[in-house]
Amino acid sequence: MDLDRINALRAEPVASASHIIDGERRPASDGAEIEVISPIDGQVLTTIPAGTAEDAAAAVRAARAAFDDGRWSGIAPAQRRAVLLRWAALIEDNALELAVLGVRDNGTEIGMALKAEPMSAAATIRYYAEAIDKLYGEIAPTGPGNLGLVHREPVGVVAAIVPWNFPLMIGAWKLGPALAAGNTVVLKPAETASLTLLRIAELALEAGLPPGVLNVVTGEGATVGAAIAGSMDVDVLVFTGSGATGRRLLEASARSNLKRVYLELGGKSPNIVFADAPDLDEAAKVSAHGIFRNSGQVCVAGSRLLVERSIHDAFVEKLAAHARAMKVGDPLDPATSAGAVNSLRQLDQNLRFVREAQDAGREIVLGGARILEETGGYYMEPTIVAGVAPGDRLAREEVFGPVLAVMPFDTEDEAVALANGTDFGLAAAIWTADLSRAHRMVRRVRAGIVHVNTYGGSDLTVPLGGVKQSGNGHDKSLHAFDKYLDLKTAWFKL
Ligand code: NAD
Repeated sequence: MDLDRINALRAEPVASASHIIDGERRPASDGAEIEVISPIDGQVLTTIPAGTAEDAAAAVRAARAAFDDGRWSGIAPAQRRAVLLRWAALIEDNALELAVLGVRDNGTEIGMALKAEPMSAAATIRYYAEAIDKLYGEIAPTGPGNLGLVHREPVGVVAAIVPWNFPLMIGAWKLGPALAAGNTVVLKPAETASLTLLRIAELALEAGLPPGVLNVVTGEGATVGAAIAGSMDVDVLVFTGSGATGRRLLEASARSNLKRVYLELGGKSPNIVFADAPDLDEAAKVSAHGIFRNSGQVCVAGSRLLVERSIHDAFVEKLAAHARAMKVGDPLDPATSAGAVNSLRQLDQNLRFVREAQDAGREIVLGGARILEETGGYYMEPTIVAGVAPGDRLAREEVFGPVLAVMPFDTEDEAVALANGTDFGLAAAIWTADLSRAHRMVRRVRAGIVHVNTYGGSDLTVPLGGVKQSGNGHDKSLHAFDKYLDLKTAWFKL
């Protein structure tokens, strides 16, 4: 990584941002702005428009008009592919600028941000662009007197509401398939991570995406997000974020036009280590990274360590050693392995969970405190809490911070019961050298993704989605198109 370039970029002032509606940069309808605080130092970085319900409506109108006149939905898939491939290339060309801007906005360590944000977004957009002119409709196996054709059509206006961790990666998981399929989009980034999504929307215009096809409206969830969710003219709403907001979106759909709502929500993912794991050192290292990278602000983070009692103490010590070796601090230093917590609010929430565990007599094996407060930024030590009871809040609720809850188990059945003992079902991992046990556990653990002898790192070719209260749809892979393409039947009498 080019350190001089990073240092030059981090010192650049960031101009006040605007919405992008109908291909134009626009302020909020009432001129109001939100200050963007950088979690690196707690200083004001820039401002974004504090969007209004009127702004949301304008964006939906622009998206509707762009969809209905066919400027995007009506062109050949190969033409859409060409525009999207240019867009992916522009994102790659600007990868370091985007990564540094994103880190200044949301605090993710630069090593991870560069790979997981612009590079991953570019790869995702390219993947769906390349796929779209290779998808066929169907001819149904009807009787001889009929012909049944199954068309796939874009669903129309898609609204995407996304969170602050990995805004480009998660944004691209929605934008790639939605746009490739021919839909138009209204995107609402999180208040604390809007800047890079606005920037890639500008790059999309530069790549030749027609105005109105991708609109970005920033602002508070309760205002802009709620207006989008309640719109009568949004056909599909895709969301990544918290369960509490997900519930509101379902209610808003029920109260408005019954738009389809696809939710990618939180997790409390069990990382299950059996004594026969092939390499306990590797398991400890990967497990430490699986919870502490990006300060635990990863939806699939392995936030519950379930470890077979016979190796409990030794394994927790190994994991703690790896965690101690992780450098927490300035996210723009390439040597940093965990950057800043996104906001003061999130940091306070993390610390509250730790205090509560302490008060309940749980063992704080490592960390537990805010650090580097003198920088003005929001940093927290990797934290390991052992002896957590299944009923504890720390065992059941998502912290979304660098806090690992450890629980021992004695048998496979007990591991399954603990693993499935929360309302979530996003990710899990099984560490074992016993192939039969690995397959048994994959079947028995209720989660959208079960890692075996690793944690995290699944690529674009596989779907990501939760079960139970972790969600109801899938991002990534060709399956993601299911959300953005409708099936339409044409039934002929011959
Ligand atoms: P959040 O629900 O607070 O916010 C997400 C988005 O919803 C933001 O853009 C926000 O402005 C908007 N929003 C908030 N209130 C709204 C309302 N009333 N109406 C409409 N929109 C509203 O979540 P967050 O704190 O930004 O993100 C963290 C959460 O996201 C965690 O729970 C995490 O697990 C989850 N997440 C899930 C995945 C996944 O793939 N399953 C990936 C990343 C993050």
